[in-house]
Amino acid sequence: MTESAVLPNPAPAIDPETKPYWDATLEGKLIIRHCNACGENHWYPRTLCPFCGSVDTEWLETAGKGTIYTFAITRKGLGHYGGVGPYVLAFVALDEGPTMLTNIIECDVDALRIGDRVEVVFHKTEAEAALPRFRPVAQ
Ligand SMILES: [Zn+2]
Repeated sequence: MTESAVLPNPAPAIDPETKPYWDATLEGKLIIRHCNACGENHWYPRTLCPFCGSVDTEWLETAGKGTIYTFAITRKGLGHYGGVGPYVLAFVALDEGPTMLTNIIECDVDALRIGDRVEVVFHKTEAEAALPRFRPVAQ
């Protein structure tokens, strides 16, 4: 049993295109983009669809649930995460389709497995944004 570390909450870069995404995190909502031209969903949020190039995209609220697609355990971080560890950097495949880069928190890093079910939690930063991270849910 190795409990994951409590993480710092560095402020993200917010621009006009991503501001609605970060605003939603303050309300506890994880939103992504849906393309009306090809039907695909994508993250990170951007107007231009990465699948077909259309700009006919709109916001879609997710259920905030997904599955661990892959992950790495960092024993001792650098930069904003200097001296912090162990913690988990992961790609989580959302139930709505997109795979997002995030952290798995509140977990036993030795017991974590690809395919584990996770749910989003939000950590407030000093900016007008919260960081979406994920924690395991009972299988
Ligand atoms: Zn598209």
